[in-house]
Amino acid sequence: SHNPRFAWDSYRRFIQMYANVVMGMNHSSLEVLLEDLKDSKGYKIDTEMTTEDLKGLVKEYKKVILEETGHKFPEDPFEQLWGAISAVFRSWNTHRAKTYRTLHEIPEDWGTAVNVQSMVFGNLGEDSATGVCFTRDPSTGEKTFYGEFLVNAQGEDVVAGIRTPQPITKKPEAKGQSLEELMPECFHQLIETQKKLEKHYRDMQDIEFTIEKGRLWMLQTRNGKRTAKAALKIACDMIDEKLITEDEALLRIDPQSLNQLLHPTLDPKAKKTVVAKGLPASPGAASGQIVFDSEEAVLFKEKGIKTILVRVETSPEDINGMVASQGILTTRGGMTSHAAVVARGMGKCCVAGCGEIDVSYEKQEMRAQGKVYKKGDVITLDGSTGEVFAGEVKTVEPDLSSEFERIMKLADQKRSLGVRTNADTPKDSRVAKRFGAQGIGLCRTEHMFFDADRIDIVRRMIMAETTEERKEALNELLPIQRKDFFEIFEEMGGLPVTVRLLDPPLHEFLPQEEKDQRDLSERIQVSLDKLKTRIESLHEVNPMLGHRGCRLAITYPEIYEMQTRAIAEATCDFMKKGKKLTPEIMIPLVGSYKELSILRELVQKTVQAVQAERKMQFDYLIGTMIELPRAAITADEIAEYADFFSFGTNDLTQTALGVSRDDAGKFLGAYVNAGIYEKDPFTSIDQRGVGKFVKMGVELGRKVKQQLKVGICGEHGGDPASVEFFHACGLNYVSCSPYRVPIARLAAAQAALKNTGVKH
Ligand code: PEP
Ligand code: MG
Repeated sequence: SHNPRFAWDSYRRFIQMYANVVMGMNHSSLEVLLEDLKDSKGYKIDTEMTTEDLKGLVKEYKKVILEETGHKFPEDPFEQLWGAISAVFRSWNTHRAKTYRTLHEIPEDWGTAVNVQSMVFGNLGEDSATGVCFTRDPSTGEKTFYGEFLVNAQGEDVVAGIRTPQPITKKPEAKGQSLEELMPECFHQLIETQKKLEKHYRDMQDIEFTIEKGRLWMLQTRNGKRTAKAALKIACDMIDEKLITEDEALLRIDPQSLNQLLHPTLDPKAKKTVVAKGLPASPGAASGQIVFDSEEAVLFKEKGIKTILVRVETSPEDINGMVASQGILTTRGGMTSHAAVVARGMGKCCVAGCGEIDVSYEKQEMRAQGKVYKKGDVITLDGSTGEVFAGEVKTVEPDLSSEFERIMKLADQKRSLGVRTNADTPKDSRVAKRFGAQGIGLCRTEHMFFDADRIDIVRRMIMAETTEERKEALNELLPIQRKDFFEIFEEMGGLPVTVRLLDPPLHEFLPQEEKDQRDLSERIQVSLDKLKTRIESLHEVNPMLGHRGCRLAITYPEIYEMQTRAIAEATCDFMKKGKKLTPEIMIPLVGSYKELSILRELVQKTVQAVQAERKMQFDYLIGTMIELPRAAITADEIAEYADFFSFGTNDLTQTALGVSRDDAGKFLGAYVNAGIYEKDPFTSIDQRGVGKFVKMGVELGRKVKQQLKVGICGEHGGDPASVEFFHACGLNYVSCSPYRVPIARLAAAQAALKNTGVKH
């Protein structure tokens, strides 16, 4: 066609793209020239540029290309063609492509292909256009054809957002603007084609098209990206339409994406100002006033004020503040740091390891990007992206759709792996049960020790100088613990509950700040000197390998004795209501069968004593966590004394890797970027390393006890890739935080389906 403006416009687009994709120039170098030209002439949109403008622009482009790259822009079309072809092949090895392959597990050796094709033009005038469309709504999943287009434009104009695209189907608010009205013939052809494509690919399609002088050309089609909500709706509809099978539907939904549905999320339409970005440690969204210590969070809560607890890092002492706040922000620590684990357990939003923020407790303020935020200033967290925003951003509540329930039910029919939850309170238990948990796989009793009504008794127990004194304090704790367990048993209605006896080192229960120490010394009538000396003597540099776990009970058996008694008595109370329960008592951090043999006897004796006092009998199990390499290696010896195993993959990861779970944040990101670890090993199990300990533990354990029940209760229990691995290891169940239960159910179903060779 004889249309010089069109020719020059196409040429400048070509140069711009070629300079970027083939010659490796920064995209903005040429874009700036175009913007400058438009500014100087007072143009708003690209189509206002004249032929002369474009000619001048092309000249400038070529000049800048020569200056920046040292190469002349090639004029020979064959040289251009080979340049373009080579660029596609080269793109296989870009950093971005490599990261993408790692993320999506695409093998390195697949390689890529090039199609050489003649061009069609949507910028040939008012009878030409270009657009994108989806065969179903990608945000709701509704079966409505959805899309946008622009008249007299090329593909990049639609995404660039300079001109507002028009709707494809007729819309009352955009009368006379739609493709349906403007180019009815092309519209009908497009409708027929999209139906054909969806039927052929059996999935929702994301389609690009161009109309050149009234003729429709299809450029590309691929499976469309979608929200979790849309994924569920589309999967269910397609089962009903008999387009796909139930198994295929299950395999198509990304388990991790279910997160979007379970927590409140930021309103996508809201305006946002990003302050900083950390790790997306626990999903959800929350706004509140900044507070820098936990007591303050509690005080604010009492006044009905919403807070975000901002700490360098959290410790078990912060538990009340974490409960009282809407969300937690830490500047240190990784995905399994205390803040992250506890927040996920509570279903509370958390951004962890946000190193861009500097916190000063002294000044009660934090700094980010040169701005200062003081106590009382409002911020918003997005725990799904790790973003921190200034001010309040509106959120929207999740509602569990009927599609969600339907897919979950299907998943339960297909999976063989059980799904339990990690829960320490009746409230957590209730949430987990609503999400389909089949029991509790880990009840961490230490979290109960921090409640305000008992922490001081715990501290008196720690300060005791004689066994008698210690027992006295423990006796006071007994009824409180018994009530805790009873309430959890009730909430779970007879489903199995694994209670882990005390695990953390004792210094975690004592106050570290001088002022708190002074207050405590008055409250429990112990001199400040004595208190300080004890704190000093309990101090450990790396408490993860210190005096904790079953080591506490080897030295102070009274502690486990009291806890066992509380469990046994609570079981009797529960049975008096005519219900049945087999409590599971779990011993942490065992490294030798001898520890377990000693503590098993202690637990047995205690349970038998309670049974005799109460004149009641019940079955119970005594098991152990496998969370040290030595435990995995000697699992056959340990199995002799264990009724069940539960892998503590958090500790197993840190001890196998020699990487402290609390300090790893400082370098783990760099390790993942360098490909040393494929993923954060505290998030997704290191299958080739730590995974071998899991396999070995299962095999050795079952060699001795064929029917040994084996589960896993580390954070990996809610990670889909890890769940697949645990399924393959032959585990009986995974246990994860309440809000991850649905994710684990779906992941377990997918693992089972993949094993039977179903394609997806
Ligand atoms: C573990 O180590 O994996 C575990 C579940 O215990 P905790 O995280 O409490 O150490
Ligand atoms: Mg552990």
